[in-house]
Amino acid sequence: MAAMENHIEKILFTEKQISQRVSELASQITLNFSPSTNIGGGPLLSSSSSSAPVVVGVATGAFLFLADLVRKINLPISVDFVRVESYGSGTVSSGKPKISCDLKIDVTGKHVILVEDVVDTGNTLACLFEHLKSKGASSISVCTLLDKPSRRKVNVELVGEGKFYCGFECPDYFVVGYGLDFAEVYRNLPYVGILKPEMYS
Ligand code: 5GP
Ligand code: MG
Ligand code: MG
Repeated sequence: MAAMENHIEKILFTEKQISQRVSELASQITLNFSPSTNIGGGPLLSSSSSSAPVVVGVATGAFLFLADLVRKINLPISVDFVRVESYGSGTVSSGKPKISCDLKIDVTGKHVILVEDVVDTGNTLACLFEHLKSKGASSISVCTLLDKPSRRKVNVELVGEGKFYCGFECPDYFVVGYGLDFAEVYRNLPYVGILKPEMYS
């Protein structure tokens, strides 16, 4: 069984659906951060922090989503990564995420958009929000490919005029593909799907 698609039980979000949704999210972000079209109430670029947002991908899971998203955002953004370790091993979170690789860009007074693969319990976001607030980010938005609201344990209060952008609401399955892994494998699948149960053993 060499071909990866033989490992997948079911495709939840196809390549085409993802691409379409990524375009929509990028348009919303572009609109919300454009000074002249800022009617929807996104962070104003004419305020004291007068630069385009810093888009921060949470490694490794967000790498494909981030790459596709930023190419469709029509603003002079900056891009950086942060690494957070939250999973011990397998599919159960340790619940205590730690930042294991910090940002390179100084986000003091900047609008930050955190790009995530999936928001599950919310522990990772809560940890990142504390970190970015302590660094003086003037607003923090979230752009996540997937959201599992039914699994939330901590609610994350958006900072400043930050917004929550979400690609798809995801049912409560452990999913892989388009950046998401099981034991560091399957990130390169172009879609999001559920693994066959025998792949976990
Ligand atoms: P949270 O801290 O919100 O519980 O979870 C955040 C991290 O858990 C995600 O960034 C992701 O790395 C991992 N995670 C949560 N659900 C899934 C899933 O269904 N599949 C995969 N591959 N990772 C997940
Ligand atoms: Mg993640
Ligand atoms: Mg993972």
